[in-house]
Amino acid sequence: MVSRREFLSAAAGAAMLTRAPRGFAGQPAAHDLIIRGGRVIDPSVRLDAIRDVAIAGGRIAAVEANITADATDTIDARGKLVVPGLIDIHTHVARTTEGPGLVLQDGVTGWIDAGSVGADHIADVIAAARSAPQPGRVLINIGRAGLLPEGDTMDLAHADVGAARDAIAKNREWIAGVKARLSREVAGANDYEVLRRAQDVATSFGLPVMIHMGQTISPFSRLVDLLKPGDIVTHMFAPPPNSIIDDSGHILPAVLAARRRGVWFDVGNGQTGHMRWDTVEAIMRTGFWPDTFSTDWTANSRTTGVIDLPNCMSKLFGYGMTLTEAIARATVNPSRVFPLFSDRGTLNVGAPADVALLELREGQFEFLDNFKNTIAGRQRLFPSATVLAGKRIRRA
Ligand SMILES: [Zn+2]
Repeated sequence: MVSRREFLSAAAGAAMLTRAPRGFAGQPAAHDLIIRGGRVIDPSVRLDAIRDVAIAGGRIAAVEANITADATDTIDARGKLVVPGLIDIHTHVARTTEGPGLVLQDGVTGWIDAGSVGADHIADVIAAARSAPQPGRVLINIGRAGLLPEGDTMDLAHADVGAARDAIAKNREWIAGVKARLSREVAGANDYEVLRRAQDVATSFGLPVMIHMGQTISPFSRLVDLLKPGDIVTHMFAPPPNSIIDDSGHILPAVLAARRRGVWFDVGNGQTGHMRWDTVEAIMRTGFWPDTFSTDWTANSRTTGVIDLPNCMSKLFGYGMTLTEAIARATVNPSRVFPLFSDRGTLNVGAPADVALLELREGQFEFLDNFKNTIAGRQRLFPSATVLAGKRIRRA
């Protein structure tokens, strides 16, 4: 029995054949690009199967088994994973103009620069966002001078509400939220007041706050209580003092309440102080898993434990996370955190054609935390190719 859809498509194919034989010189191809034969994993539609992905006009045109139509360009994805373009919500790629292009090669087709600068230098990161090949936005550091060796807001006068408000008002399109770094070496005893001011600024524009947690002077419960739905906690695996878990292995009630009201919890891999395997294990064991993976990417990430987002996505396989669960945390989940990405993180027909091709290699791998401790793993994801807005990106 032939379904109506199959009949119609067969009829359309026959009609096309009589008018324009395939391969006839001068006829435009049906699609711009077909990614053939890969294992397509798209958690947004619960798909995990061998499929072809056809792209036309910069958008996903079809995700089907054995697409027979022709295309201008073809990628042979046999043996590879084909997933929605990755979204990294905690990076510092906008500190240099090269950053966005470098992470694009890792499969990152959308990014957030999380507080590299404050009001004083906001123009620099916005220039990087404007010239980036893929969509990117910035979080303004509530500390007006940005990242400071002596601590962004150790001098409370740097948490300047007026300056931040003014910068956002002038750059509404490019600033997606406010970043507050609260560790003791960044904010000292000002942590609570710094967050209160960041929230004051963000709320007046309807924007989220992202807090950098861990090793704060104030108890974490007191800080997380200031977060509203849609705000983000990054560095959620930060070890004590003031982690999200208590000494007896229970997630703090204030943290559970925050998740219930819609606060997101993000990894923010980073390099120093943000992730230690024993804390990761204790938190994973409770079932309080991250909503999103992120790298906290900087120019030296390649040579530290970060390497790239696919590597960071591989780190929790040993704690029970499946491949699909890991991919969801770098695609559909982050697409819900910032409105900029609301139509991304998916391979739905009609969505922007941002695609990451990854390789899942089996072997002996070592994963690094921020304290020079390693865990062994048997699987690791590697970036293989990137398609942005339907176009194949050349790897350096
Ligand atoms: Zn960061």
